[in-house]
Amino acid sequence: MKKITVISGKGGTGKTSLVGSFAALASRNTVFVDADVDAANLSLIMHPRLLEEHEFTASQTAFIDLSECTQCGLCRDLCRFEAISEEYIVDPVACEGCGFCSYTCPVEAIKMEDRVSGKWFVSETPFGTLVHARLGIAEENSGKLVTAVRNRGAELAEAGGKDYLLIDGPPGIGCPVIASLSGVDAALIVTEPTVSGIHDLERVLSVCHHFGITASVCINRYDLDEEQTQAIDSFCRKEKINLAGKIPFDRIVVEAMVKGMPVVEYSDGPVSQSVRSVWESLIDELN
Ligand code: SF4
Ligand code: SF4
Repeated sequence: MKKITVISGKGGTGKTSLVGSFAALASRNTVFVDADVDAANLSLIMHPRLLEEHEFTASQTAFIDLSECTQCGLCRDLCRFEAISEEYIVDPVACEGCGFCSYTCPVEAIKMEDRVSGKWFVSETPFGTLVHARLGIAEENSGKLVTAVRNRGAELAEAGGKDYLLIDGPPGIGCPVIASLSGVDAALIVTEPTVSGIHDLERVLSVCHHFGITASVCINRYDLDEEQTQAIDSFCRKEKINLAGKIPFDRIVVEAMVKGMPVVEYSDGPVSQSVRSVWESLIDELN
């Protein structure tokens, strides 16, 4: 089973809509993972039917047992995050879960309790199994949640004898991106023909190189600036990176999204043909 992550240096490049089309092209021999847990939206195209729901705990919150507390004030003085009120109630949003108050309380009145930071799900879709998640509001640790969903996705792909695990990665180059990239066989970087697009491409490529991952590049809406597209093309040639394809701008992509459909199922025009050719190039490169 081969693992592929689709990433972009930033949001808004059309990455998820592309992954939705790949899902339709993958002939049900793939398990899909929506690793963009801060803004999961692959399910808008894949229409999941929920099979499993799990709580995700990756941090802790302090809890003060007021029947034990002597109101000495030490914890309030020591908490750098001002998370403890005058009534000795811990604000769960302000508490960073460092545990220092619990360690220093002279009467051991403070316990650290697991905190539910989000949920993750396994669903069935018309295109195959989807593992996805929802991080709670103002919650961190999305890198750990990404690891949880991709590990579950890999287990399901192995168990089902699938050929591929396709991961829709988060934007940027932070911890969740690294969690979605580590140990995969290939990455597809979706970029756009802008100055910042090239800059973001270089940044995300350096992450791929760091982890020894073969990267291919796809330029979305390439015809919006042919000069910048040419610059990306030249960059890829110079760096010996597979340019998997160029997808033209077309309002049909938005129309398909509004209908909740992958564009390759909505139309058979130039965009869909380009997306097919990117998918084929990616699979060729992988094999
Ligand atoms: S340090 Fe312990 S005893 Fe003192 S105020 Fe805090 S919870 Fe109460
Ligand atoms: S665990 Fe840390 S952040 Fe939370 S209340 Fe205690 S000292 Fe403050």
